[in-house]
Amino acid sequence: MSATIIDGKAFAAKVRGQVAEHVARLKGDHGITPGLAVVLVGEDPASQVYVRSKGKMTVEVGMNSYEHKLSADTSEDDLLSLINQLNNDPGVHGILVQLPLPKHLNEDLVINSIDPAKDVDGFHISNVGLLGTGQKAMVPCTPLGCLMMLRDHHGSLSGMNAVVIGRSNIVGKPMAQLLLGDSCTVTIAHSRTKDLPAVVRGADIVVAAVGRPQMVPGDWIKPGATVIDVGINRIDAPEKGEGKTRLVGDVDFDSAVQVAGAITPVPGGVGPMTIACLLANTVTACCRANGLAEPEGLTA
Ligand code: NDP
Repeated sequence: MSATIIDGKAFAAKVRGQVAEHVARLKGDHGITPGLAVVLVGEDPASQVYVRSKGKMTVEVGMNSYEHKLSADTSEDDLLSLINQLNNDPGVHGILVQLPLPKHLNEDLVINSIDPAKDVDGFHISNVGLLGTGQKAMVPCTPLGCLMMLRDHHGSLSGMNAVVIGRSNIVGKPMAQLLLGDSCTVTIAHSRTKDLPAVVRGADIVVAAVGRPQMVPGDWIKPGATVIDVGINRIDAPEKGEGKTRLVGDVDFDSAVQVAGAITPVPGGVGPMTIACLLANTVTACCRANGLAEPEGLTA
């Protein structure tokens, strides 16, 4: 038996379409154009690619995109002063500071200086607390994308056993909170977990967010389980030619697809959903800022 492949690319396109419709309504009915400001400090090549792609998609859904590129030696004071300016700009509804920041900048301080209502990454300590207490928060984009795919596939997640492998602040912990919010019985596994294969075998839902290529083999997966692979790992691909590489997830797709009921591929699974959810969060932030109804199905 082969699992259903959850097509994140197609689903992300659908989410972007819903965002675009909502943006058109905000413009047409209220004369409001949501705006997303992205701040990039330094010249990290991967970050530059992400920021470019975020800007392009922001414009494609009809929102305003503001890019602020600062040199790698920008002082903390200058960065905080830019964030303060964006916090006070009524045309900016979402602010994202691209991580990682250069070492001399205090990431926690910078993130916590963003107005929580504009914190579309959901990393501000207030949003972390709101999510943890089941209140209306800005939810981190990657876990939100995973939740949307799970809800779309299953409808209700109530009562399901979910295992999240990884306990980072950006993926593992918020993912676990979201699953708990949807009434799953949640286990968070990490590098000190004893007998991880047995823990994973008990799960109806497995979310792998580790950063280790193909670490979860098919024989850890309970037959019929849903597997969400967050990992993005680049490995050598000599079969494609000398020096070539390819992307793989944290799950060994070829063996897991034989056992799982549904699975996200890498690439083309969780990845595209992350930017789609950033756009969704920006439109949500814009609606909340203006006291308007939030787009349905685009929030936790
Ligand atoms: P982190 O490195 O911050 O966290 C990794 C987690 O995995 C840690 O909690 C760690 O445990 C755990 N871990 C490490 N080794 C093992 C092991 N052998 N067994 C069990 N758990 C283990 O990573 P992130 O959460 O930031 O990212 C995880 C993956 O997701 C990466 O591949 C990243 O590239 C990808 N990612 C993808 C995104 C997307 O858009 N698709 C967005 C964000 C991330 P411990 O805490 O004990 O050290």
